[in-house]
Amino acid sequence: MVFKINILGCGSATPTLRRNPTAQVINVLECHFLIDCAEGTQLQMRKYGIKFQKINHIFISHLHGDHYLGLIGFISTLHLLGRTRELNIYAPKDLEEIIFSQLRASQSFLSFHINFHPLVSKESELIYEDDLVTIHTIPLKHRIYCNGFLIKEKKHPYRIDINAVTANKIPIAWYHKLKKGENYNENEQFIPVEELTLAPYPSRSYAYCSDTAYFESIIPIIENVDLLYHEATFLNDQKKRAKQTFHSTIEDACNIAKKANVKKLIVGHFSARYKTTEQFLEEAYPIFINTETVKDGDEFNIPF
Ligand SMILES: [Zn+2]
Ligand SMILES: [Zn+2]
Repeated sequence: MVFKINILGCGSATPTLRRNPTAQVINVLECHFLIDCAEGTQLQMRKYGIKFQKINHIFISHLHGDHYLGLIGFISTLHLLGRTRELNIYAPKDLEEIIFSQLRASQSFLSFHINFHPLVSKESELIYEDDLVTIHTIPLKHRIYCNGFLIKEKKHPYRIDINAVTANKIPIAWYHKLKKGENYNENEQFIPVEELTLAPYPSRSYAYCSDTAYFESIIPIIENVDLLYHEATFLNDQKKRAKQTFHSTIEDACNIAKKANVKKLIVGHFSARYKTTEQFLEEAYPIFINTETVKDGDEFNIPF
């Protein structure tokens, strides 16, 4: 029942040896989603043991280079590795032309099909859904069109209470109905589902917000999430610079986490000027104690 975030890069646009620019892989119940794909993402995947071919869905927040310039390289590698399964890309609409003009210029004919899902809406929308998970956009406030992503588990099934079903002699054929939450009702015998099952595991959620200025409109979308990743490009003494560049300070990130009542906050997208991140925590703790700074290679598991 895994729900795990792998941080492949947590730096911002200027290159530094300390951090790679942004990319993350989210493993939800063994479905792997790549969010953002900066330069160097392939190497980070190799370094941290992420299997390339497990990625079927890629989500790109916006078209600043530190969030997508690794994508064409990754696509080319998937082709070299002989991929045949289709690849889904969810991204601002202009990325489609960028990818396909690069492929045209190199006369590359991919061994697999790309389904491009253009993002244009400024409202939060459902962009991905399967039996277990939904993904919505989180419209952010940045210098160009930019979305975060909210990944949520759907409601888990009720868990069969083996002692209760045995004691009540419930036929096995009924188990799938109980899992869906139906009350047992047969041969004039009625038993509420709660007496035959254990409560479903709670649905877990992860919100990814990078890059953005302080933006309270996201609060209703990310309210009560288990884990929030929010950018904190700057410390608080760089408020003015943060405003000019449509980025956030650590204080901004913590205030959003607090107002949205999230369980835990992780912050990244640090400016290259910061060699270490201790001071981010010093400034975070008075506002939102359950904060962690991320580093490349970190893994965060969301427990039940
Ligand atoms: Zn960025
Ligand atoms: Zn940006």
